[in-house]
Amino acid sequence: MKNIFFEDNQEFTLDDYMCYGKDGRGNLGDHISIVTYRLLEYSLKIELMEQFGKDVQIDIFRKAGYRSGVYFASHILDLHLPFHEFVAQLQKELKHLKIGILRIEDYDEKTGKIVLTVSEDADCSGLPFIGETVCNYDEGFFSGVLSKYTGKSYSVIEVDCWATGDRVCRFQAMVEEITNHE
Ligand SMILES: [Zn+2]
Repeated sequence: MKNIFFEDNQEFTLDDYMCYGKDGRGNLGDHISIVTYRLLEYSLKIELMEQFGKDVQIDIFRKAGYRSGVYFASHILDLHLPFHEFVAQLQKELKHLKIGILRIEDYDEKTGKIVLTVSEDADCSGLPFIGETVCNYDEGFFSGVLSKYTGKSYSVIEVDCWATGDRVCRFQAMVEEITNHE
């Protein structure tokens, strides 16, 4: 088959990879098992750690999650909704896609600081105690979603996780300070 991408020397984008359509998965549809998801995620994580070290692995997961969050916000969410409706929509989509059950624990309208939890998280629910948070991809994902929605740069850090012995993942999201170096 003719490959228009290679011929034009163009790089694939996330949009291209997200095409599966009716023809691609006519019988199996768009659902896939958590086994498949975790196999991909954690085999990739281990491979990246072995080849490049833990810091690089975490950085790659955060950045990949950010890309995915921006895509998710742009293609799946309505970015024109007011905050509370936007959150309700995000909750609905995350549940529908079986990513997890989102709750907003705290929202400071003035500073934009948000504390959110995800239970039954696809990435880590059920993991044994590891002693550190593991949902770096989710950190990036929420950072991407919130940055795209607000137009501000959000940094998101996971503070509790199944892997630290908690029963929900808890994330702190805050607007990054813009430092002017000039
Ligand atoms: Zn977690």
